[in-house]
Amino acid sequence: PLPIVAVVGRPNVGKSTFVNRIAQADEAIVHEMRGVTRDRSYHEADWNGVDFKLIDTGGIEMGDDDAFQGSIRNQALAGANEADVILFIVDGKTGVNADDEAVARILRKTSKPVFLVVNKLDTPNRTDEMWEFYQLGLGDPWPVSAMHGHGTGDLLDEVVEEL
Ligand code: GDP
Ligand code: MG
Repeated sequence: PLPIVAVVGRPNVGKSTFVNRIAQADEAIVHEMRGVTRDRSYHEADWNGVDFKLIDTGGIEMGDDDAFQGSIRNQALAGANEADVILFIVDGKTGVNADDEAVARILRKTSKPVFLVVNKLDTPNRTDEMWEFYQLGLGDPWPVSAMHGHGTGDLLDEVVEEL
């Protein structure tokens, strides 16, 4: 079976944009399950000749706020269980919020490699927005722009080293 890279994080941080940039253009969604805690799409990808599956933990079914936060945490947990490597995407424009902290608490406990990916850093000198993410306790943040592609190659070089 192909190694699995799970992309987790709260809604709107750019998970799907990131996955769509990395996944093969002709990929098909292999499998999708909808529900509060299981709603993800699987995409085939390769980088530097390493084939892997990317899981986009997308489109959460929203309930009340508690269910919503719970579902983000569950996705992070499921990702951690299922994946070989976890990409935790956060939003460099909005900064750290309580949902990010909830996910970080779970991911700090996993033994799997976790990459903290600060997205939406679209312009050069984007490191200013990066520092506050150190408080999540997941090591050095990786600055990227999923929309424009900045930083994604350097990140993937390191990710496939872990597969
Ligand atoms: P998801 O909910 O985490 O899957 O997030 P989406 O991929 O759907 O993106 C949410 C919004 O953020 C969309 O409007 C995207 O166009 C935007 N977005 C995603 N990546 C970037 C980025 O690198 N830079 C900017 N400026 N916007 C982005
Ligand atoms: Mg999405």
